[in-house]
Amino acid sequence: MNARESSHEPSPFDLADKVAIVTGGNRGIGRAIALGLARAGAAVAILARDPQRNATVEAELDQVGRPTHADILDVTDRAAIAEAVGRVERALGPIDILVNNAGNTDISGGVLNQSEDGWDNALATHLTATMLLSKAAASSMQARRRGKIINLASMYSTFGAAAVPSYAAAKGGIVQLTRSMAIELAPHGIQVNAIAPGWIATEMTKVAREDPDWSDFNTMLLARTPAGRWGEAEECAGAAVFLASPAADFVTGIILPVDGGYSVF
Ligand code: NDP
Repeated sequence: MNARESSHEPSPFDLADKVAIVTGGNRGIGRAIALGLARAGAAVAILARDPQRNATVEAELDQVGRPTHADILDVTDRAAIAEAVGRVERALGPIDILVNNAGNTDISGGVLNQSEDGWDNALATHLTATMLLSKAAASSMQARRRGKIINLASMYSTFGAAAVPSYAAAKGGIVQLTRSMAIELAPHGIQVNAIAPGWIATEMTKVAREDPDWSDFNTMLLARTPAGRWGEAEECAGAAVFLASPAADFVTGIILPVDGGYSVF
């Protein structure tokens, strides 16, 4: 063993001393990312609406052994966003990593059937919240000239989705917001990237996996996915750790698919 090998240099994926926020961190992909960041060493705050699920995941994060914080936030409540970020900073310290993960689907069936409320809610939950949370976190990151913002895109950021046009429009917008913020914030030492999950087994997609009315759709998407299976939420966590870590200090504006090959087929 040479001197370099024995020097125990920190891993480029090490998140020790970093503070992270994960919106929608109380289940599914957000929970998996929150636990992944904590296991990599970060202090992690989750922000979501359901207090019971928040408490359950806060206890799981506690078990990892890093400082943690769970707070109630509806990301569509614009006035509450900056206050929630401030509470996290008072509890854990300045934000180094923001994961804009909170999301839902408005299965309208198409624009002919699209309610205006459903449309507004989809854009508010995904796109406007991502912008406002990024603005709040980036103002803090800017002062320290470092930070990572990770947004959740989708296959529907790229492909059309007749049944969920509001979701696809919002997720398409997130890609362009990601690229735009990446350019703006690069000189401030802040990297902005997105993860684009393929079909991941969570509550959000339960209907497509389990409802007999959706079985043709389920069969189609499994045939369309080269890996031939649904992904697990945990399979998105490694991508988030990478994008949150010093290993990605020169990576900005990318949309990283975690999709079993869906986007290249
Ligand atoms: P889930 O439905 O399992 O979880 C959604 C999370 O978002 C929950 O924690 C929920 O908590 C939170 N949330 C929803 N609305 C709000 C709100 N208004 N304010 C704060 N938190 C909110 O979804 P997934 O884990 O599947 O999805 C996570 C992200 O990944 C979403 O952005 C989704 O669009 C994206 N994605 C998912 C894919 C998949 O196949 N599952 C594919 C591509 C992208 P609470 O209800 O307590 O607020």
